[in-house]
Amino acid sequence: MSDRAKLLLVDDRPENLLALEAILEPLDADLVRAASGEEALRRLLHEEFAAILLDVQMPGMDGFQTAELIKQRERTRHVPILFLTAISKDAEHVFRGYSAGAVDYLMKPFEPLILRAKVAVFIELWQKTVEIRRRDALLAEQELATVERESELRYRSLADAVPQIVWTAGADGVVSYRNERWYELTGLPRDGTSVWQDFVHPDDAAATGAAWEEALRTRTPLDAEYRIRLADGTYRWFLGRALPTADGWVGTSTDIEDRKLAEERQAFIAEAGWVLGSSLDYEQTLADVARLAVPRVADWCAVDIFVDGRLQRLALEHADPVKLALARELEEPMLSAVAVATRTTEPVLVKEIGERELAAFRFDENQLEIARALAPRSYVTVPLAARGEVFGSVTLVTAESGRVYGDEDAAIAQELARHAAAAIDNARLYAEAERRSRAARALEAVGDGVVLVDRNGVIRLWNTAATTITGVSEAETLGRPIEDVIHGWAEIAPLIPVASQPGQPVRAETVPVEFGGRELWISGSGVGFEEGTVYAFRDLTEEKALEEMKADFVATVSHELRTPLAAIYGSAQTIRRTDIELDPEIREQLLGVIASESDRLGTIVNDLLVAGRLDADRLPVTVEQCDPAELAATVVESARTHLPENVVLDLDVPERIPSVVADPGQLHQVLVNLVDNAIKYSPEGGPVVLSVANGDGAIRFSIADTGLGIPASEHRRIFEKFYRLDPAMTRGIGGTGLGLYICRELVRRMDGKIWVESKPGEGSTFFVDLPAAHDA
Ligand code: ADP
Repeated sequence: MSDRAKLLLVDDRPENLLALEAILEPLDADLVRAASGEEALRRLLHEEFAAILLDVQMPGMDGFQTAELIKQRERTRHVPILFLTAISKDAEHVFRGYSAGAVDYLMKPFEPLILRAKVAVFIELWQKTVEIRRRDALLAEQELATVERESELRYRSLADAVPQIVWTAGADGVVSYRNERWYELTGLPRDGTSVWQDFVHPDDAAATGAAWEEALRTRTPLDAEYRIRLADGTYRWFLGRALPTADGWVGTSTDIEDRKLAEERQAFIAEAGWVLGSSLDYEQTLADVARLAVPRVADWCAVDIFVDGRLQRLALEHADPVKLALARELEEPMLSAVAVATRTTEPVLVKEIGERELAAFRFDENQLEIARALAPRSYVTVPLAARGEVFGSVTLVTAESGRVYGDEDAAIAQELARHAAAAIDNARLYAEAERRSRAARALEAVGDGVVLVDRNGVIRLWNTAATTITGVSEAETLGRPIEDVIHGWAEIAPLIPVASQPGQPVRAETVPVEFGGRELWISGSGVGFEEGTVYAFRDLTEEKALEEMKADFVATVSHELRTPLAAIYGSAQTIRRTDIELDPEIREQLLGVIASESDRLGTIVNDLLVAGRLDADRLPVTVEQCDPAELAATVVESARTHLPENVVLDLDVPERIPSVVADPGQLHQVLVNLVDNAIKYSPEGGPVVLSVANGDGAIRFSIADTGLGIPASEHRRIFEKFYRLDPAMTRGIGGTGLGLYICRELVRRMDGKIWVESKPGEGSTFFVDLPAAHDA
């Protein structure tokens, strides 16, 4: 609404309008002409008027009709109408004019002063109305402002009351308001100079900044998580939200530290579990986990492990190497405290470390100073325990982060310890399994038989050597009672010494054990342990046999030596006697005994010497071509000199015989031995024949007798050293058991072969094959 009043002058005659204008000119109003009722109505559609001066007589729509229409319209109903007329002066007209809503009815010609005065009243009224309207508007505005102010205040006090940070910013993003909580938390000044970079963690600044820029640009809501630095210098996680409003932004930041910590803990546990499960090198993985813990769940992390009953520090982690170096000074007292803490399997949680708590560590002056400087805040120590055994512990400590541990942190530490302990346990079990499988492999490789018999007498282990020694396989023994496997175990078992615990020394005993009809001499001992008894044994059958042979040899040789010595001694003593006169013939006989028995002694001593030299491989063999017929003849000739009466010794040699390649002296010795045996083991007498034959590239000597004979099972063994078929000499035939051994060794050295064909009671034939000379 414009402040200057307007008057609408309506007349179909321009001269009348002109006259009106002249009269109303001095008034403080704009004059608007309308030449008809229609034009007047049109004007009224767009403009407001202080009053309408309306001619009654107009062609078309007359003044009354026009007035009635004006009065029907809500917006124009109150506009005062003054009718002007030159003719309708009768009462009926006047009445009609008033009833049509006129405020006045003026007759032409007008009195200009009166007309002016009357219209002035309406102008004044208009102005008053305008004034009132203006005031109303002003009032309304003021009221609105008050209301707005109040609502702003309410809003702010609300904003100040909520625990979140609340702020507003202009469309440009420049912060215009921050609530009390913001100042309280950040401790930043109220001068409005701080920007978000001043309190958002540097590590989160880039992402937060980018998100904010993006929100500003697109005018879309912002959602971001970042850490805010609190007044005490520590950081906490917040969820920031900003919403665009009509004239800017309204934002909140909500503390999500607890949620973040929980997430962080879960993530840490998951990752730690993964790291711990990834390797069997638990020392390395524990150190890795300590690194993982800092700074995610702790400012310090220590892992301590028992080694031979003593707690040792495996890992200590902190972000700052200087502090780390300082903390090492505190290791001893800390380990003592941790050792105490690991006496139970419960975690030890100290929420606030004060002077009293520090005193509990019994630090010395210097250490106490370091501890104070490191300013630990909270700690939790959890034992690493699996299957009831405590291996060590994990300690988490907070310091510069300002975090205070609670029960949830203790639970997390326990969870971590569970994972770590399981990892250690697994690694140890694996190492144990490895050790066992190595031990099992070693058991398979050892030469001693090893047999494990459980508490019920059932065989649980039977190694390869046990199979080799006994000839009984693992499959035949495992799971079977030992009595079923070892014949006569009930009698044997008490003979084998068994140590009551590993490491206790016992002397193995040698016992005879029968396996599949074969008797073995087994030297064995055992060790008892919780699962049963382990027996270790070795086969001494050969040694035993040798031992027996040696014992027999001593007996035999002493007998063999004593007999001729006694004869020589007796004969010599008799010859020396002066009390009796010896018949020269007897004297000659006695001298003969001395000579032959000395010869026998010489033979025995010679055999021993030769055997010794053969053993030491110090008997040189010098082969040459020699005549077998001539050699055989010499042997038979000398044997005939001391032939028993009932024995006939024959020589059987073909007309022509090739030379033999041999050491003549040694071949002579072999044939002498064989002929002597043939005579010796024919106690009933009978023929002994030495034959020489031309074989297939070899010269074959055979010495046949019809004496005692040899069982087939002994055909090989008679060639062994000291082996005699009848060591007890039940038949009274002496010997050292060296003859055939010497024969075998000499023949072997001359690239020949020696064997026997014989049946007990039917006699024996010994064969010697030696290479024939090619030139023959
Ligand atoms: P010994 O000094 O006992 O004769 P040998 O080595 O010459 O030792 O012979 C070993 C064993 O072989 C003898 O003890 C004997 O039992 C047996 N033996 C050797 N030659 C004969 C044979 N011609 N007839 C029967 N048994 C024999």
